[in-house]
Amino acid sequence: MSLTNAGGSPQCRILAIETSCDETAAAVVADGRHILSNRVASQIELHRRFGGVYPEVASRQHVLAIQTVVEEALADASVAHVRELDAIAVTNGPGLAGSLLVGVNLAKGLAYASGLPLIPVNHLEGHIYSNWLYTDSLPAAGSPDPGESHGPAGGSASDSARKQRGGSASEQFPALILIVSGGHTELVLMEGHCRYRLLGATLDDAAGEAFDKVARLLELGYPGGPAIQAAAESGDAGRFHLPRPLTRPGRRTEPQPQAFSLPTVLPVHGEHRFNFSFSGLKTAVLNLMRQLEREGTDARQTQTAADIATAFQMAVVDVLVGKTADAAEFGVKQVCICGGVSANGLLRRAAEQHFAKIGLPLHCPPLFLCTDNAAMIAAAAYYRQSYAPVRQSSPTGREHRQDAEAAAQATPHDRPSEPPARDFLALDVYASLPLVDSIQR
Ligand code: ADP
Ligand code: MG
Repeated sequence: MSLTNAGGSPQCRILAIETSCDETAAAVVADGRHILSNRVASQIELHRRFGGVYPEVASRQHVLAIQTVVEEALADASVAHVRELDAIAVTNGPGLAGSLLVGVNLAKGLAYASGLPLIPVNHLEGHIYSNWLYTDSLPAAGSPDPGESHGPAGGSASDSARKQRGGSASEQFPALILIVSGGHTELVLMEGHCRYRLLGATLDDAAGEAFDKVARLLELGYPGGPAIQAAAESGDAGRFHLPRPLTRPGRRTEPQPQAFSLPTVLPVHGEHRFNFSFSGLKTAVLNLMRQLEREGTDARQTQTAADIATAFQMAVVDVLVGKTADAAEFGVKQVCICGGVSANGLLRRAAEQHFAKIGLPLHCPPLFLCTDNAAMIAAAAYYRQSYAPVRQSSPTGREHRQDAEAAAQATPHDRPSEPPARDFLALDVYASLPLVDSIQR
């Protein structure tokens, strides 16, 4: 599929829609990097009283909000009609089925009515490409060429990271990506645009999920990540110590000047050193609270809760930065952190300190692009269509029905040994499926 604009405009403008969880979002992005508009209608207030996302409420709210959000995103970008755009992108997973369905249905309708191509986007790939978006605070230098001449837009303050923006593809890759969100914690080796190898993932809770659950235990409020961070600001870092699950004891070795070669098989099951586990840490918090109660201390008292929040945040950040630092020894050219937890101030500072010390460029998205948004979906769509285009289909899925009919009529001898291709717009509702698995399904 060509993404050149029919009107001859030098820019390729994509409207993206994101409704995978509890944010109704729409954005228009030019050439995969320039944000022309970025609207997010958050449902936080709606879910606060449940202490977490209530799926049915989320999907109903998406239905109420989506049309306004899309219209506002188009108006902000001065797009009078969808036909002026080059493509429509939509998150088709991983996420909540009812929520995804709202965005996908609207995107299909818009594509059908306008005749524009429809690009399905993996939500996690969206988070990765949040690091490639330009932001207002940074000059939008560069050619429209997708990524060959530019590295990620640095949200971090490090100078070396900003310089990397001018790097060639060979200077950018391999890149190490840490995805940390409410549903995922993954270390991914990005070998080129849209090419990934999973190094490790959480065996149980995601980092953001652990923040949310611990905040609920401490009654700090919802969403848990920002609540823990705020409480930890007045916490005593020396009062409690919590475990660092699946880490090796002792000091980390000094970084090696030569790149290690990757082992051929990296198990993502069990206690592999790049895997994570956060559910035990949550239990450790619960045990600590019970111990304090037995001793007559109210664990939810403001100062005690702040001290526990501090110990918890330090443990999570230690694990995340430690494992990312270890994985960065595979000769990577840069490190990118993304997903909702990448908004965490301690994580950003600790990562920046470590990677500045070893001279490796680090990128974190600006805060407004850390949590779910549609600009990152448009960016991922642009790079995916440029580097790994998916097989096209009409928004009605008619070609796929024909495929299925042809397959059904074929004799056993005619039948291909490969199973028929999955509908490219099929929802991916396996919410915790790792990036690499969900892209290859
Ligand atoms: P999803 O998992 O649906 O993709 P996001 O990528 O928006 O959602 O991430 C949401 C998660 O990020 C939540 O678990 C939230 O607690 C966490 N989070 C947001 N801000 C912070 C923060 N400052 N510190 C730690 N966690 C945070
Ligand atoms: Mg997300």
